[in-house]
Amino acid sequence: MFSKILIANRGEIACRVAATARRLGVKTVAVYSDADAHAKHVMACDEAVHVGGSAPKDSYLQWQRIIDAAKATGAQAIHPGYGFLSENEDFAQACADNGLVFIGPPASAIKDMGLKAESKRLMESAKVPLVPGYHGTDQTPELLHKEADRIGYPVLIKASAGGGGKGMRAVDKSADFMAALESCKREAINSFGDDAVLIEKYVQRPRHIEIQVFGDTHGNCVYLFERDCSVQRRHQKVLEEAPAPGMPESIRQQMGEAAVAAARAVNYVGAGTVEFIVEQPGGYDKPEEMKFYFMEMNTRLQVEHPVTEAITGQDLVEWQLRVASGEPLPLEQDDLMIEGHAIEARICAENPDNNFLPATGTLHVYRKPPHSAFEIDVVRVDDGVREGDAISPFYDSMIAKLIVWGETREEALAKLDEALAATHIAGLQTNVQFLRHVLATPSFAEAKLDTALIQREADRLFKQDPLGQPMAVAAAVAQTLVAERAGETHDPFSRRDGFRSHGVASRRMDFDYRGEPVIAKLRYLDDGLSLKVGEADAAPLAFTALPGGAIDVRYGADRQVVQVYPLGEVEHVFGTRGAAAITELDVLSHAGESGAEGGRLTAPMPGKVVSFAVKAGDKVSKGQPLAVMEAMKMEHTIAAPQDGVVEELLFVPGDQVMDGDELLRLVAAAG
Ligand code: ADP
Ligand code: ADP
Ligand code: MG
Repeated sequence: MFSKILIANRGEIACRVAATARRLGVKTVAVYSDADAHAKHVMACDEAVHVGGSAPKDSYLQWQRIIDAAKATGAQAIHPGYGFLSENEDFAQACADNGLVFIGPPASAIKDMGLKAESKRLMESAKVPLVPGYHGTDQTPELLHKEADRIGYPVLIKASAGGGGKGMRAVDKSADFMAALESCKREAINSFGDDAVLIEKYVQRPRHIEIQVFGDTHGNCVYLFERDCSVQRRHQKVLEEAPAPGMPESIRQQMGEAAVAAARAVNYVGAGTVEFIVEQPGGYDKPEEMKFYFMEMNTRLQVEHPVTEAITGQDLVEWQLRVASGEPLPLEQDDLMIEGHAIEARICAENPDNNFLPATGTLHVYRKPPHSAFEIDVVRVDDGVREGDAISPFYDSMIAKLIVWGETREEALAKLDEALAATHIAGLQTNVQFLRHVLATPSFAEAKLDTALIQREADRLFKQDPLGQPMAVAAAVAQTLVAERAGETHDPFSRRDGFRSHGVASRRMDFDYRGEPVIAKLRYLDDGLSLKVGEADAAPLAFTALPGGAIDVRYGADRQVVQVYPLGEVEHVFGTRGAAAITELDVLSHAGESGAEGGRLTAPMPGKVVSFAVKAGDKVSKGQPLAVMEAMKMEHTIAAPQDGVVEELLFVPGDQVMDGDELLRLVAAAG
């Protein structure tokens, strides 16, 4: 076994690899970019080397610096994680040339599987079943068009060098082919620097089922069963589970053996995944009629590997380290067994209701369900961030992976929903509630899986509000009252918005809920509280503050145990049934423009300071542009929230700032 390895990655996967290394007594070296100077993965390792600027091309893709870092720290091997350099044959070769072990397959296997078209030609000779299609070298547009006509529509045009769901175009009819080909080639050249394409029959209602394989340097190769990754958005995985629901034992074995044949055809060593697209000609109820076709091989550890670990009881990173250090595979095929069922949910910073637009920001609140980290357990959370960290525009939007295990699929599903309900994130948009909606769909619950599940169930998935406006308001009111009592600053009636009419104590609170104004009227009656929300009838409100900050809210006939996190004017309410953000409007004061908090002028998002339009001592008036920031490739002007004098600039142009950082000190004008 190695005594020290370098981890050429960041985020959860770098932390994941470090955890296993630590357990095995292997020292670890992290590499990091400017943006990651204080990242969790840096703290998770024994040593850390700075390798450059925040953009991946300036740091995590700078392979010469990474190799130099490994040599300088005395690391014997490099774990590439996934993404970045993990499937870069030149990097794998450079490791070997520098006397370092690349923890992954030989460079030749990466090359053989690197291009989808070439790998298909290879698989054809290894007798692995392929999707009907064209994967030849002749790229004449007319020939490609003829091939598409021959295959029959719909077809899928794929960039041979593509990945991550990019560079694919579905074509429904012959007349649309040429335009789709052009646009696919354009995206391919921009994203992958290579515009070769292949054409496949577009399988209807397919499942994505992949096989985990493992090879060693002694000629052994096994499969660790399958993962079903059919639940996708934009051809990217959202939920992954193992084993695949309804998988007949004979098909499992055929697919496993086909995957091993694929791996053997390229002399595979280490962890790899063979992805298959699976046709369901007999529908969901006749899985024995499933037909599987090779799609591609990913020559690395995959994001969703923990579900395989959960059902096999094996630590795949440990296997990787053992194999890379020359040991044989820890187990033979017959020793491997499936136990129970595991599901992984990818928690991402994104807005599902806005076409899954990635979001950035600070994890002001990040609370996880009771869990283990990076090891097999009933509830496991793998992440690379802590509360207070930012999700920056430089890297991908995945915040965490939540993995649960149960004896059965139903049990795993119920536990996953419970764990998602206990995952409280505020400060940026996430897909946590969306994931709960997916679990609740009849399609997912009944395992009617295919890659169109999300589109098919759209009505149940988007713009949902299971908590509901009355409970959201009741929770926000309860939170306000609990906070006031805890503060013991004054009795509620002394607040400026408390008033008495006809001898009854009343109080009005104004909210904005999902873009609509809502007025809440609270009455203090002899026998308790009565709350009227909007135009609805008033109903009794009662609540109990529980230890740990939760509040048991009873409003009318409804009851929820909620956790409410106030961030500025926004109350983030997390209930057992769902979550909501509700904004309390202070009708008596006039809230400043975005970016202003009292007299503080703060960055509204993480980004870079481009320029200041003012200097210390300048008098400014409300609305005047003060600074320009750049975030997510766009410029944003920060304006003065009020009249005042600039006392001090706190950054210089070019500085990277976090969401909420004070940019300059503004002293409000007197009066
Ligand atoms: P990537 O390299 O981006 O992962 P893949 O070839 O693995 O590309 O395909 C990604 C996804 O696109 C699959 O998981 C599946 O949902 C869909 N897909 C790929 N090929 C087909 C096909 N022939 N028919 C239908 N869907 C497909
Ligand atoms: P008004 O403007 O007359 O106060 P509201 O819109 O506040 O009317 O309320 C409409 C009706 O609901 C009135 O009869 C009022 O007394 C009653 N109401 C308002 N808030 C509450 C409350 N929290 N509990 C019970 N009744 C309420
Ligand atoms: Mg793929």
